[in-house]
Amino acid sequence: MSTQETRTGIVWDYAPAPESPDHVRLRDSYGLFLDGDFRDPIDGTRVPSINPATEETLAEVAFAGPADIRRAVESARAAQPGWAALSGLERGKYLFRIARLIQERARELAVVESMDGGKPIRESRDVDVPLAAAHFFHYAGWADKLSYGVGGRKVEPLGVAAQIVPWNFPLLMAAWKLAPALACGNTAVLKPAETTPLTALFLAEICQEAELPPGVVSILPGDGSTGATLVREPDIDKVAFTGSTAVGKNIQAALAGRGVSLTLELGGKSANVIFEDAALDQAVEGIVNGIFFNQGHVCCAGSRLLIQESVADVVIGKLWERMGRLRVGDPLDKNTDVGAINSREQLTRIEELVAAGEEEGAVRRSVACELPERGWWFAPTIFTDVAPAHRIAVEEIFGPVVSVLTFRTQAEAIEKANNSPYGLAAGIWTDKGSKAFEVASALQAGVVWQNTYNHFDPSAAFGGYKESGFGREGGPAGLRPYLRAS
Ligand code: NAD
Repeated sequence: MSTQETRTGIVWDYAPAPESPDHVRLRDSYGLFLDGDFRDPIDGTRVPSINPATEETLAEVAFAGPADIRRAVESARAAQPGWAALSGLERGKYLFRIARLIQERARELAVVESMDGGKPIRESRDVDVPLAAAHFFHYAGWADKLSYGVGGRKVEPLGVAAQIVPWNFPLLMAAWKLAPALACGNTAVLKPAETTPLTALFLAEICQEAELPPGVVSILPGDGSTGATLVREPDIDKVAFTGSTAVGKNIQAALAGRGVSLTLELGGKSANVIFEDAALDQAVEGIVNGIFFNQGHVCCAGSRLLIQESVADVVIGKLWERMGRLRVGDPLDKNTDVGAINSREQLTRIEELVAAGEEEGAVRRSVACELPERGWWFAPTIFTDVAPAHRIAVEEIFGPVVSVLTFRTQAEAIEKANNSPYGLAAGIWTDKGSKAFEVASALQAGVVWQNTYNHFDPSAAFGGYKESGFGREGGPAGLRPYLRAS
């Protein structure tokens, strides 16, 4: 749809506004980043990284095998005492340098993030990349103040951290993992997700440019088997994992009895709760941001929309009207609101759950929009008449699909919001501050937003309850998982 009419009667014509990829310095082929340089794999393979919006190959990337992983862990072990022996001030300078270099290459990183992962350039440019830099800045500031972050206790680093990240925020998740680990004096072996390794490899180039000592950071792309091998390496002290609950449980079982510290940031089915006294137009914007940001590939997406019955019809009407104005398509177009689905596998998962929603009797409405012929896409979708037991109300869809449930009283809202094995995040929309505090304190969720959604800040802790995992990332709380305090 190229023409939109607003309430004022003004007609807007959107001309394409594509961001150019011409300035991107993408290599044809990437090795593994270990011991301070890009190296050919010893026993790994080479796999193409695909643009999900075009199905074209962007670059060939080495995936690490067991011998490569062993080598990276050995190099991280060798580098760790020297890194920990630097004063916090000196370690902080390296982190500052990395943050500045991310800013210098911000435009390039944003384009590559959108090409490799499918997210709209507006998001990678305005959210992912600036927040990644902000995390390095934030933890650079902590590096010489570590004991203040843990109540004045004496601290030492854990040692070698194995870190595994998913594909939905590839650069940002790498920053969430690496910045606190390095600030605390640990060395790190990071495994990016199989479908989105490119910005992590750019970060490897940035580590080189910052003259980070060899072995302090290794970046080993690979798939699930690479991750499984990495967490089973005997000589690691810490595992930090962000990904699905199923894999998190598998890692927890693998580490049982080994004395390896573990942080798990897992899935979610977060409730976005709209009370009748909320500013409804504002709430509708928050609902859209909560579920359609990054195509809904967000662990804390507001995928369970709980609306007070008295305003349900009004809110659903406004939401449906707003959804019709979302622009779906080319991730590199600056007008795009909803980009490509990250992979064919993820599209299949979304389609399967949406079909289950229809079979179980919920009412589906998907926005009618022209989707590109190539690539993987899913139109923004809303389900109404959803029962709490329906799969679409229980399971993480991880796509641009929102399931609407209603409630009558505050107590019912809290009960329904907490009726989930997950507990990652929640949103509360109300004009009454006292109600917001009362509801927030009753919700089992690591993050609760009031009259906003999907708002992130490096100084704020993020993490889950129940099957959404344990441990916190961000702020001083994010130091604890990387320190031994006495
Ligand atoms: P996933 O668990 O399949 O994969 C995540 C990462 O783990 C990838 O790098 C993958 O290669 C690796 N992996 C896969 N199998 C492994 C194994 N057996 N051992 C070790 N590593 C393994 O998840 P995904 O589908 O890539 O990501 C989506 C999931 O991540 C969603 O459930 C989402 O909610 C969650 N997520 C959580 C947060 C958070 O902060 N809580 C943030 C982003 C994503």
